[in-house]
Amino acid sequence: MKPSKWRVFVNQPNLIMAVNIQAIRGMHDVLPEQTPLWQYAERIIKEVLSSYGYSEIRLPIVEKTELFKRSIGEVTDIVEKEMYTFEDRNGDSLTLRPEGTAGCLRACLEHGLLHHQTHRLWYYGPMYRHERPQKGRYRQFIQLGVETYGMSGPDIDAELILLMHRLWQKLGIREKVSLQLNSLGTIAERLAYREILVAYFQQHKDGLDEDSLRRLDTNPLRILDSKNPEMKDVIANAPELMAHLGTDSLAHFKAITTTLDDLGVTYEINPRLVRGLDYYSKTVFEWVTDELGSQGTVCAGGRYDGLIEQLGGKPNHAVGFAMGMERLLALMELRDDISVSRVVDAYMIRVGEKAEREGLRFAEMIRNEMPSLKLQISADGGSFKSQFKKADKIGAEFAIILGDTEVERGEVGIKCLRNETEQQTMPKDQAISFLQQHCQNFQ
Ligand code: ATP
Ligand code: MG
Repeated sequence: MKPSKWRVFVNQPNLIMAVNIQAIRGMHDVLPEQTPLWQYAERIIKEVLSSYGYSEIRLPIVEKTELFKRSIGEVTDIVEKEMYTFEDRNGDSLTLRPEGTAGCLRACLEHGLLHHQTHRLWYYGPMYRHERPQKGRYRQFIQLGVETYGMSGPDIDAELILLMHRLWQKLGIREKVSLQLNSLGTIAERLAYREILVAYFQQHKDGLDEDSLRRLDTNPLRILDSKNPEMKDVIANAPELMAHLGTDSLAHFKAITTTLDDLGVTYEINPRLVRGLDYYSKTVFEWVTDELGSQGTVCAGGRYDGLIEQLGGKPNHAVGFAMGMERLLALMELRDDISVSRVVDAYMIRVGEKAEREGLRFAEMIRNEMPSLKLQISADGGSFKSQFKKADKIGAEFAIILGDTEVERGEVGIKCLRNETEQQTMPKDQAISFLQQHCQNFQ
């Protein structure tokens, strides 16, 4: 360091205190005490997905801006005001992905995966939207995305709903979410309906707020989605899209609801459900909850056959959904019966020089014999008493105790920390059998 800089450093020690760098607003750390619940949810999600034969696809976080403009649509909230877009050093316009559908489709088209094939895929990871941060709404959030390609019939729409239904059951939140369902018909049907809807809203212009007046030209269906209570009546009396669908779209929708009825999955048909993105056709659905305040949509999706052509592919079929993990976790946290696995099963207490050396060796031996046991050793010294405290605090079931006396005798102490039984001392090989016997689940 040059002397002049050093002077700044020593003369203004407060400066160093003042520059604690913090995370970006709306972007969160998941701390060690929170990760077990995340890992638990992630494990169950993967199990359910693989039980339906879905494969993982891993995709870049950054894509060309053009991809999102073309797929999500120029006049959507996401593209208009939420994207993290920047120029890279070559002058190309890039964007941190605000959602995963576009990138997933881009990858499948690029690698020729859509040619006379069907696919059931999932991806998992961070998405970025410059929204106003609040509970359940962040600037970096984690989504699970599930996409299927190449299947036109209603069975795959129904399968996705059944998969989500199973997921809620396995995660113990089935009672907290409910399914809303609608059909947006084909693009042609929607365009015809759009004119009818615009004519209706033109007649009721006085009842529209500023946002809706703007959407009247750009995206009038989105007006139906407005949460403004003052527009409730105008929206309630608007013509319904369902009444303007053709026989094919109606039959597709009916087949889905019949399957759900057969399998006992309850739903509500919500004619106002239009979804924010332009690319949906036929089926759209949302799983909503009233236990998370205003950010009540946990999972949303639908059919988007038209998007494939929009991105340069041949006519094809696609249905999928995306789930917000932070909202899912918030729902799971409301459960009081959830028990996630311990981080540490056994804690090794080592006091004395010989014990410290021998303890490391013995810990490796235990790990050879019991690979699933979560064993942590003391590594920061201290008395027996303080190390016992640590073992207890960390939630270990057993303490394995080594002092120099034990080492000299080739012995080890074992104490169960979760009941009142006495500490036992035994030869080392017996200690391993003892742990194996008492820790059935850890082997
Ligand atoms: P919303 O109406 O809540 O803004 P959206 O229609 O923009 O949702 P989608 O693009 O469909 O959301 O994303 C699917 C899911 O991802 C949402 O249902 C939600 O659970 C989650 N999600 C979307 N945006 C955010 C965000 N900013 N923070 C946290 N989760 C989000
Ligand atoms: Mg949104």
